[in-house]
Amino acid sequence: MTGIDDLPVRDELRGKTPYGAPQLDVPVRLNTNENPYPLPEPLVERIAERVREAARGLNRYPDRDAVELRTELAAYLTKTGKHPVGTENVWAANGSNEVIQQLLQTFGGPGRSAIGFEPSYSMHGLIARGTGTAWISGPRNEDFTLDLAAAERAIAEHRPDVVFVTTPNNPTGNAVPPETVLALYEAAQAAKPSMVVVDEAYVEFSHGDSLLPLLEGRPNLVVSRTMSKAFGAAGLRLGYLAADPAVVDAVQLVRLPYHLSAVTQATALAALEHTDTLLGYVEQLKAERDRLVTELRAMGCEVTESDANFVQFGRFADTHAAWRKILDQGVLVRDNGVPGWLRVSAGTPKENDAFLDAVRELMGTAGDGPASPKEQSA
Ligand SMILES: *Cc1c(COP(=O)(O)O)cnc(C)c1O
Repeated sequence: MTGIDDLPVRDELRGKTPYGAPQLDVPVRLNTNENPYPLPEPLVERIAERVREAARGLNRYPDRDAVELRTELAAYLTKTGKHPVGTENVWAANGSNEVIQQLLQTFGGPGRSAIGFEPSYSMHGLIARGTGTAWISGPRNEDFTLDLAAAERAIAEHRPDVVFVTTPNNPTGNAVPPETVLALYEAAQAAKPSMVVVDEAYVEFSHGDSLLPLLEGRPNLVVSRTMSKAFGAAGLRLGYLAADPAVVDAVQLVRLPYHLSAVTQATALAALEHTDTLLGYVEQLKAERDRLVTELRAMGCEVTESDANFVQFGRFADTHAAWRKILDQGVLVRDNGVPGWLRVSAGTPKENDAFLDAVRELMGTAGDGPASPKEQSA
């Protein structure tokens, strides 16, 4: 049988495995940070209407520049981000993963490099590899906060072309303070200058504000966002960025023509008409996230501060065994490969109860008080 390595694939792809969170068929799936609430029925109806309308024009290519959609996204950012954003500041693509790919195709590529501060979103490194951009794994503190001094040293040493800052960070959940992002931006400009991409996929769940106001006067800064998490539309595949209009012009050099289908544009526009309802779910999820933090701590777990719709908890002597025991109770969480730690997405109250029961069982504390997770899971 022919395998990948029998094909003349690029050297850097040999022996590698594709991105893949397990998609197991279990009762409670809390492993990919999806929004657990299906879209509300009136929005489903509105999507059907707008898609039907779009279907009548499917003999034509879609609006290549997605102007109506970018205008509505800009209005949403202006309303929620405490910073005026115009159509010319916004670019949209099929998921923020495609936005990141376009940024790396534009500002990275062969002979160039990108840095992220890990553990962080693994796709930044994977997309870097896919675009021929060298990947540099920068450091973090033991408690997963960003180690600014070490990050500045790494930027000065490697002079990367692209700097990724994920805030709130995935998989750890904690946010990066605006002063730290500003210091990284300064360091990146002094070293190269390079592009700084702030990945705000989870910002709607944050206790703090978006970093959009930092865009003012910083043409090498990009804020990337997604409709996959807060908008509960992971299946839609719609991500976007806000930046100086020159950045929007630059990514158009690499985007495929008509990359955003008319069906996608129509669906996203319908969802944006229901922003207020969708952000209502966000409030519920934030409350559930805070409950997960409190209850896990009460059981004796260590929990990283979370500004996202998920929580990192531990610490386990055998992380995989702990993951397995939770799965045996019908609850799928995520082992992101951070030794000692697992990640759980905030689900519905019922799903979260099932998860908390499973962890209680794992900790051996069902009914009899806290115990050390290290001993219990060994
Ligand atoms: C989930 C996630 C995304 C979203 O990717 P999409 O392609 O928009 O679904 C982006 N960045 C981070 C850090 C994420 O966790």
